Amino acid sequence: AAGENDSNVEVKAKNFTKKVIGIVSGKGGVGKSLVTSTLAVLTMRRGYNVGILDADITGPSIPKMFGISNRAVASQEGILPEKTKNDIKIMSINLLLDEEDTPVVWRGPIVSSVVKQFWNDVVWGDVDYLFIDMPPGTSDVVLTVFQSIPLDGIVVVTTPQDLVHMIVRKAYNMAKTMRVPVLGIIENMSYVKCPHCDEEIRVFGDSHIDDIAAGLGIEVLGRMPIDPELAKASDRGEIEKIHKEYLSEAINYMEKYLKI
Ligand code: ADP
Repeated sequence: AAGENDSNVEVKAKNFTKKVIGIVSGKGGVGKSLVTSTLAVLTMRRGYNVGILDADITGPSIPKMFGISNRAVASQEGILPEKTKNDIKIMSINLLLDEEDTPVVWRGPIVSSVVKQFWNDVVWGDVDYLFIDMPPGTSDVVLTVFQSIPLDGIVVVTTPQDLVHMIVRKAYNMAKTMRVPVLGIIENMSYVKCPHCDEEIRVFGDSHIDDIAAGLGIEVLGRMPIDPELAKASDRGEIEKIHKEYLSEAINYMEKYLKI
């Protein structure tokens, strides 16, 4: 993985993280966190040890999706991640703030140093797949996250109403500059299924990701519909109770490509 430096040598002693996957998006609100959580849950169900590092410091939503409101505690070895009902390890700024609705108004360098700490100072232990919910966009902060954490690959989340072409290219170029492979694209909010006739309604028009992916030589890993059950479960902190297979193809690909 990229970014071999002195601090990583120290990290390896403390953590045994095998594969690290960053989930990126062009902007907020496209479902990046929901996709991250869903990928983590599906991977956990296949018997792997899974963690989520919530690097979306100014919009942290991972703990809420899993119904976690405990404060993280420190041990002699470092900060301990919280565990979900099914033992997914989680670290998020929301687990460290006194009140979870305190807004984070820090500038870029501070945000970056928190993300670095989440990687260096959290006792992740033995994790097969660590998913990183990246900050949205392609700002400086995203770049420093790329530099701070040795990613094995990124997944780009888009929606049909995004400026998909531009977003995917930007993410692709950023990853390429950092020598991180793009595992593929997941299209969220692709369609809505009519509850009466099962027809797939493309609310935001036709999807263009197949062409874009083919143009760049990357995979379309999956499509997730707008599904009110997903929204409800994530609002209630019950994302682990959802049994939908929308993204199982993405996990198949990841397992095959990353081989742990
Ligand atoms: P981001 O991380 O990109 O800012 P989130 O994952 O937090 O976005 O999603 C924003 C909101 O939209 C959340 O309330 C989430 O539950 C909802 N949402 C995202 N994707 C879907 C979907 N496919 N179906 C239903 N609700 C969704």
